Amino acid sequence: MKKLILALAGLVVLLAVLTAGNTARLAKHAAASTVAPVVVTVDSAGAIARLAAAVKFQTVSFEDGTRAPDSAAFRALHEHLRMSFPLVHQKLQRDTVAGLALLYTWRGSDTTLSPVVLMGHLDVVPVIPGTEPQWTQPPFGGVVADGFVWGRGSLDDKVSVMAVLEGAEGALRSGFQPKRTIYFAFGHDEEVGGSGARALKAVLMKRGIKPPALVLDEGGAIMPGAMVGTTGTVALVGASEKGFLSLQLTVKGAGGHSSAPPPHTAIGRLATAITRLEQSPFPLVLDGPSKTMMERLRDGMPYGQRLALSNLWLFKPMVLRAMAAKPSSAAMLRTTTAVTIVSGGVKTNVLPIDARATVNFRIRPGETIASVTARVRHVIGDTGIAIEPVGFRTEPSAVSDPTGAGYRAVEKSLREVFPDPRLVVTPYLVIGGTDARNWSDVSKQTFRFIAAPMEADALTRVHGTNERVRLGDYLTAVRFFERLLRNTDAL
Ligand SMILES: [Zn+2]
Repeated sequence: MKKLILALAGLVVLLAVLTAGNTARLAKHAAASTVAPVVVTVDSAGAIARLAAAVKFQTVSFEDGTRAPDSAAFRALHEHLRMSFPLVHQKLQRDTVAGLALLYTWRGSDTTLSPVVLMGHLDVVPVIPGTEPQWTQPPFGGVVADGFVWGRGSLDDKVSVMAVLEGAEGALRSGFQPKRTIYFAFGHDEEVGGSGARALKAVLMKRGIKPPALVLDEGGAIMPGAMVGTTGTVALVGASEKGFLSLQLTVKGAGGHSSAPPPHTAIGRLATAITRLEQSPFPLVLDGPSKTMMERLRDGMPYGQRLALSNLWLFKPMVLRAMAAKPSSAAMLRTTTAVTIVSGGVKTNVLPIDARATVNFRIRPGETIASVTARVRHVIGDTGIAIEPVGFRTEPSAVSDPTGAGYRAVEKSLREVFPDPRLVVTPYLVIGGTDARNWSDVSKQTFRFIAAPMEADALTRVHGTNERVRLGDYLTAVRFFERLLRNTDAL
């Protein structure tokens, strides 16, 4: 007995030494940034006024074509861009694509080099009817107050469009001529499927461009580290995005009078199927950008978490359980299941002749529409339930390479204008969707990142109430793009 206790104690000591050793060894790997800060002079007042004015155009995308977009508002925004950025419109070729999308071509001095594509979108989501009084400033007022530009689109995504053009205007003013051709591709309907972005890509593919050295779209941002359980500040650069699939489950019933019902009506059978799906979530997998992200964030975490993350060989189940406890981190590890619509029955005393549910899945890279559908069939295990895809669907995007030159240029440009020694820059998996998905199979250097620091509650403001951007944060984005444009020469 004594020997056994001694052996166990020995094992515990050995594990403690080993795990602590790993923790210390891996912490040492956290490389300090060697990027020198660069001063980028910006016409701050002018840049802010131009963004605020851009917010005023009601370039709203309405859900599923219930209302056509106001094309006059889009054209007025196009005109605002022309007036705001004279050098850009003098030196770059501007084409209108698919009616309302914009493609700018900045011809490089060496057209044999692979190009760069900077993306953004001109449309915004509607303001939820009834929420207008909750806005501190009118959503389309373009008001600058209390250190913010307020309004719909100030974050999503006029901030990207305006910062790209502002950066280009600044670079042109100082005589910059890029070596490689740079395209600005601004879609007009990202919020309702992104046909504009697909058309823009089709135009470029038809021109026979090489696979881009970098494609950058909206997506991640600079966040307070606390949002992801770490200290300092974190720049999340989207390296991949999840797929999207909605499956409709339909159960047919015999109908009839409710006074003599079968043990399960169509609705009851559907409820069983839904329960099975919710009780059998997709497996948690820590790989790809999510794994890289946890490794890079590790050093800013409390010792216990650092110890666990440095010793995944031992603590992986614990780490997965902890991450799964929060919906936003769970979504980075698994294909998610969300029952979003349900219907069935018409009258209190009539048995339903059918019942339907729509279940929305966000598919993790590594799984596919086919594999998800097959698993759903298996889990439900009821051949009497029809399972069919409905509406928009897309496979998860290919995973971009965060060691490539495009990614490094993004990180370098960011560190030049945001010289925070505690800034952790990391790839991550975007759990929503962006127009960048169109490019991930063409370029392994397709990333999703807005170089503006976000407020801690920014996620509730994007698509929500009181969307706004801090003035200084917008100027950081402008400076970032001016540096990125210049840094494309060294790609
Ligand atoms: Zn957006």
